[in-house]
Amino acid sequence: MNESWDTLQKRVYNRLLEMHYEANVGHLGGNISCLDILLYLHHYVMRPEDIFILSKGHSAGALYVVLWTLGILDDEQLRTFHKDGGLCGHITSKHGTFSTGSLGHGLPLAVGMAKADQITNNKRQIYCLLSDGELQEGSTQEARNFCNRHNLGNNLKIIIDGNGWQGIDSTETCLDIRPWNAVRYNGHSKENIKRAFDGIQNILWFQTIKGYNTIYENKLESHYWPLTKEQYEASIR
Ligand SMILES: [Mg+2]
Repeated sequence: MNESWDTLQKRVYNRLLEMHYEANVGHLGGNISCLDILLYLHHYVMRPEDIFILSKGHSAGALYVVLWTLGILDDEQLRTFHKDGGLCGHITSKHGTFSTGSLGHGLPLAVGMAKADQITNNKRQIYCLLSDGELQEGSTQEARNFCNRHNLGNNLKIIIDGNGWQGIDSTETCLDIRPWNAVRYNGHSKENIKRAFDGIQNILWFQTIKGYNTIYENKLESHYWPLTKEQYEASIR
């Protein structure tokens, strides 16, 4: 890959903003908060045999633009975002490993695959990205317990997009997620993201900013509200 990180980063941010603006849809904030992590993971970490599961399925747009930089999706496909028969606003098994959307489903699927790999001695790595709000789900907690009980940490990385917000309020206000505490990395710094993936821990908690670099930066509004023309242009600037 010859393209520099800065150029790649600029391309995906601009394209994601454009996609959301043209489709006139929300969920931009949580797509942007995990964008740098997804970009780094897919360009610098994952091998062809590895598996990625997007548990926070509403961040499908971020995954689409990353797949676009890899040549897996093209411009024409990106223009079908949120259109009938086109790219869905929540990831489906057509472009992701599983269809997800209702939160709390991704990690149970990931630990199931990791357990199967353990039994069959399959050496691939499984990466599962969760939102911080998703840590409140009982199914997520059960999956983590299963992961620990069966020592699945060697071939499963649990990646947390810790933007501090969920659909209706801050995660802290909604429910205590401190039992999930792990070392925090800056999810918008390439060096920090690299350090996290180079380490041996199996929970990678990234401190991220919802709606990073946009008009809605670190605001709850970035969860559901689409961008107006003025907000789109200001965010691009
Ligand atoms: Mg969140």
